[in-house]
Amino acid sequence: MIAKAAITDGKGTFSLQDIEVSMPEGDEVLVKIQAAGLCHTDHDSLHWGRPVILGHEGAGVVEAVGELVKSVKPGDKVILNWAIPCGTCFQCQEQNQHICENNSPVVAGDALPDGEVSTGHAALERSQYNGKGIERSFNIGTLSTHTVVKEQAVVKYTTAIPYSSASIIGCGVMTGYGSAVNTAKVTPGATVAVIGNGGVGLNVIQGARISGAAKIVAIDTNPTRLEMAKQFGATHTILADKNDKGLKKATEQVKELVGNGGADFAFECTAIPALGAAPLGMVRNAGTAVQVSGIEEEVLIDMQLFEWDKIYINPLYGKCRPQIDFPILLNLYEKGDLLLDEMVTTIYKFENLEQAFADMLAGKNAKGVIVFDA
Ligand SMILES: [Zn+2]
Ligand SMILES: [Zn+2]
Repeated sequence: MIAKAAITDGKGTFSLQDIEVSMPEGDEVLVKIQAAGLCHTDHDSLHWGRPVILGHEGAGVVEAVGELVKSVKPGDKVILNWAIPCGTCFQCQEQNQHICENNSPVVAGDALPDGEVSTGHAALERSQYNGKGIERSFNIGTLSTHTVVKEQAVVKYTTAIPYSSASIIGCGVMTGYGSAVNTAKVTPGATVAVIGNGGVGLNVIQGARISGAAKIVAIDTNPTRLEMAKQFGATHTILADKNDKGLKKATEQVKELVGNGGADFAFECTAIPALGAAPLGMVRNAGTAVQVSGIEEEVLIDMQLFEWDKIYINPLYGKCRPQIDFPILLNLYEKGDLLLDEMVTTIYKFENLEQAFADMLAGKNAKGVIVFDA
């Protein structure tokens, strides 16, 4: 069938183009995408160096299924999940489905050990552009009116929730909430510091609030972001100075606010390499520092920052177990604990994707979402 998709040339630009989407076979599902959230990874993918259908967050309706599909049928509403687990490997059996060994999160374009360049395990032939197979971002490519994906890439839901709000669960919300709840396991009464209050940081704050944290200190250089942080659960805010190298000054402020020599948990959500060590400095002895955003560079760290007994972890995707975690997130939404409608700052038409990227880069939105029939 013909669909419309946002395709990047891999050299920094993109355009909306007609593509041919194959009908689902075997364990595949054809989804009509209703809404797709935007995150910085989508902007990064404009520079992956080869053509890709953009988008890795989304919600939609199943239109057709292959003969082996059991969990969904046409008409079902689904949330898409970009880390597609096999269900049978060592990591999947260990409940580490987000780092499934048969569907490793190696990003397309990454160098592989054998000197090859990864295609991101794309089933290239399932979508065609100009008669040739084209990769979809994380094998789902949600910035497209339709996509055909593995059954394991969709989670059915029945919750009454706008598609725009459901669409952001599969990446930013899961990553932030899951880093606080599944990975760090923030405890009731704990003190928490959150560096960077973008789409992911705000969901770390929500996760900490839902876990019963007593003090949640939000740190950002943008006052608008700090206002958002309060809305999602921050109890204290620190407007960081852009010249505060390594957030040394902010670290002292955190310690003053929470006492005990530092917070129980600190989360780094900016992906700024110079802030890689910052969460370590903010936690008390035996505290937990979490690098949420994936700093994929060499960072020099003073080992004294680990003293004493501090733990530093860098979880991927909030340890997402899609079939377990998405329903939990939806239940929390229904209960009014997890704010999702409020997280969608702006809804854009597909034709206005360029503007949506610009607003994201300018830090205007908690989340910007493309709604296809908007
Ligand atoms: Zn697996
Ligand atoms: Zn994302």
